[in-house]
Amino acid sequence: MKEDVEMDAIEILKQLKNKGVRFTPQRQAILEFLLETESHPTADEIYHHVKAKFPGVSLGTIYNTLNMLKEHGHLLELSYGDMSSRFDGNPKNHYHIVCLMCGMVADYHSPLIDMNQEVMEKSGFLITGHRMEFYGICPECRKDEKPN
Ligand code: ZN
Ligand code: MN
Repeated sequence: MKEDVEMDAIEILKQLKNKGVRFTPQRQAILEFLLETESHPTADEIYHHVKAKFPGVSLGTIYNTLNMLKEHGHLLELSYGDMSSRFDGNPKNHYHIVCLMCGMVADYHSPLIDMNQEVMEKSGFLITGHRMEFYGICPECRKDEKPN
């Protein structure tokens, strides 16, 4: 495990323990995987990853750990209508690019567009955030494009 991931995990564990959240080794493995991966895994992918180390882990444990981390602001859930949600261990708002061919989700780090104030004034909504996503075909899938 990368050292900074270990530091982040220890810090989050400490914060949650102060709030009275119980942490099992399985829950810790879920958190560590989310912090170290950049793949934005689905709950199912997280389950298979953690199961390799903890064969007794259940999908229920995965879901309740994800809900708990989300509630405490340590996790972003990216939902896509009928498709499975993907989970991001980086809870700070940032942009994503989705590949329409393979479903891969990549980060795109750029300063956030500052439109919340404008939308609030024009719509009358109290705006608490916004979500913007880019869609396309990833470099890996583009290799398979047939040249015409
Ligand atoms: Zn792709
Ligand atoms: Mn992300």
